[in-house]
Amino acid sequence: MIKRSAKEYLLLSITSFICLATLIFASIRFYQHDWATSVFDLVIATAMCYLFVYVYKTRDVDRTSMMLALAATISVSGAIYINGSVQYYWVYPAAIAYYYLFSPRTAVIINAVLMLSIYWVTYGAVDAVELSSMLVTLIISNIFAFFFAVTTKAHQQDLIENQDLSLLVNKTLALIVSSQSLPEVLDAIVSSIEAEYKDVMCSILLLDNTGKRLHLGAAPSLPDFYNQAIDGVAIGEGVGSCGTAAFTGKRVIVEDISSHAYWTPWQVLAAKAELGSCWSQPIITASGQVLGTFALYHKDKRSPGAMDIKLIEQFASLASIAIEKNKISQQIWQQANFDDLTALPNRNRMRVLLNQAIKNAHAGNRQLAVLFLDLDNFKDVNDTLGHASGDMLLQKSARRIAKCIGANDTVARLGGDEFVVIMSDLVERDRAEQLAQRLLNKLSRPFRLNDEVVQTSVSIGITHYPEDGLTLDNLLKNADQAMYGAKARGRNNYHYFSQSMREDALNRRQLIQDLRNAIKNNEFFLVFQPIVNLATGDIYKAEALIRWQHPSRGLVGPVDFIELAEESGLIIEISNWVFQQALAMVTRWRQRYHADFQISINTSPVQYKEGTGNIKQWLAQLQGYGAIAKGLAFEITESLLMENKSGVGDVLLAVQKAGIPLAIDDFGTGYSSLSYLKKYQTDYLKIDKSFVQNMSQDSNDMALCEAIVLMAKKLNIKVIAEGIETLEQKQLLGSIDCDYGQGYLFAKPVPTKEFEALLSRQLQLDLALA
Ligand code: C2E
Ligand code: CA
Ligand code: CA
Repeated sequence: MIKRSAKEYLLLSITSFICLATLIFASIRFYQHDWATSVFDLVIATAMCYLFVYVYKTRDVDRTSMMLALAATISVSGAIYINGSVQYYWVYPAAIAYYYLFSPRTAVIINAVLMLSIYWVTYGAVDAVELSSMLVTLIISNIFAFFFAVTTKAHQQDLIENQDLSLLVNKTLALIVSSQSLPEVLDAIVSSIEAEYKDVMCSILLLDNTGKRLHLGAAPSLPDFYNQAIDGVAIGEGVGSCGTAAFTGKRVIVEDISSHAYWTPWQVLAAKAELGSCWSQPIITASGQVLGTFALYHKDKRSPGAMDIKLIEQFASLASIAIEKNKISQQIWQQANFDDLTALPNRNRMRVLLNQAIKNAHAGNRQLAVLFLDLDNFKDVNDTLGHASGDMLLQKSARRIAKCIGANDTVARLGGDEFVVIMSDLVERDRAEQLAQRLLNKLSRPFRLNDEVVQTSVSIGITHYPEDGLTLDNLLKNADQAMYGAKARGRNNYHYFSQSMREDALNRRQLIQDLRNAIKNNEFFLVFQPIVNLATGDIYKAEALIRWQHPSRGLVGPVDFIELAEESGLIIEISNWVFQQALAMVTRWRQRYHADFQISINTSPVQYKEGTGNIKQWLAQLQGYGAIAKGLAFEITESLLMENKSGVGDVLLAVQKAGIPLAIDDFGTGYSSLSYLKKYQTDYLKIDKSFVQNMSQDSNDMALCEAIVLMAKKLNIKVIAEGIETLEQKQLLGSIDCDYGQGYLFAKPVPTKEFEALLSRQLQLDLALA
């Protein structure tokens, strides 16, 4: 719907009212057979109808007012001419309407014309006394009409201006919402005001981040030299209108720049820019924070009216909305594209940047390199020192990486302890390697995290565009694989992506696919390795180890598939199978060979996770097995004991409550911290084979094994030495009182039948000795 001004509505109602009234009169006269008056009224009605349509369509109030005045003069004179002085009352509303529609001066002239024409048409028709009294009332009514019109008109003017202002406000709001850039919005605000109010010049100044200086936001109509001089001005009491307004947070009205103390330092400048007055309103947020100033300048000296004050207040608050909206959108953008912790670009942003870099490299026929970084022992730091230290390590690492890279390079955090460096515009290939070396050096220096000093390192994978891959996903995948290559080489290393890695990846994918079918195709079997009592040589313990008879690859060992099974989640299903097999075996062997027979099975950390793990289900099943439940021992890794997650602790406590023995596997390769052993009742500690195999009479490893055995004894933990291959190793371990031994010296892991044969032989030997 079109918004019409008050004057338009006035014209529409006057014309429609007179049209209707004269139509009624016309019909009455028609009924009375007064043909002349009837036709006259009809003519007036038609003229009014025309004027109504005219102003409705053209909205040209000035021209319609003029035509209405002319029509009224002719009709009133005509009516008086035809019907005599009885029609005189039409003069008063016409006179009042003129004052209303025109300026007082124009109204006086038109009214004089009206009076002259009435005088002319009534001359001779009425007597002199009647005529003079008519004229006197007319003059008096003119005077009243004048004052009435002037006061109502002032009120009307306010209404009209208010209406214009609210139209402008709405327009500006729409602009702000339409989410253009802040400079565009501010410029549009200023321009629309200047378009609406012809003699005004507007400026918006924005307070910088320090809150101390004003910078140009928008002031298209002020001369450039002036804007340049003002840009960056420090705010303060008495620093022009805007500097003071921003400083005090209050509106500052300077009616005469040339004489005002606030403007003394800028008087020459203002005179050159032909500025007479400046009214400045601080732009303030809802919470009271000053964001800048909104100012109106006039060329002449001028003080603001109520309407002007309203205008600057409203537009200052609109500017504040625009600035705040801009801030919020910036914050949203920041949050969507940057990592909170390190302030580096995040995965999203990295993808955009890498895509851009690929496009540029393609267009310019250039190379680029992608480096994938993964901190080597981040998880340990997180687990042992807590998340706060972990976060600090990430922040410090991010800073070190950022310092290493070149001007054309970007670093992003992918999440966790993974970072990506994009080296765009790579002229020499060597630069990637040089950077990788620099990163290795910098990141392997110790970090101070609160009170701890932590030593970490990083593994880096490098891939090149276009050599290794052309697409973003390809490059990232390559770099990731190359990084795993670096890890495999003992960490603290960098590694290039290679063809063989591509094959490895395909291979892994195929193997996972095959694993899915392995259970239902019955391709797994268990082998058992005896755990020998070193003092007596008795065997009533064994470790169950899994084997995979792959249909095309042949026998596959657990080192080649357990990790894949853990990553893919298939370990749950596989370990359930192991558990059922081992449970059946231990039940049988307890009956046949030894009442305390015990089988230990290997468990993965994934199995202890809250929700997805399967250990609690095992415990539930074991409840029905009575003493046999103690015939199974769970081997766990040291790192599981250090998991901070409460779910894991719960499961471990439940295992302990169920009376299931726990064995710590591969002891010595991880943290080797005995303090963790006290947290949960541990029954066995398995010294890793790497120590056993390097043992000699006076070696460090020998001393270490001895220390472990001693400590374990204090904690009431039995020690099992793994990987005993020689008689010497066995004797050395016996000499330090190690409880059990396991290794090729005694027996390799063997399938069920062979293992049962071994147990039978031992049983017969025992019987023979008895
Ligand atoms: P582990 O638990 O440390 O198992 C001992 C490994 O050492 C076995 O390798 C065994 O064959 C090998 N070994 C035993 N005696 C000697 C020796 O005298 N010298 C040498 N050099 N090695 C010896 P295997 O069977 O290849 O198993 C490798 C790893 O796979 C196991 O290490 C265990 O961590 C994992 N694993 C095996 N079965 C399972 C299972 O059912 N579930 C889970 N989660 N992991 C399993
Ligand atoms: Ca084991
Ligand atoms: Ca082991």
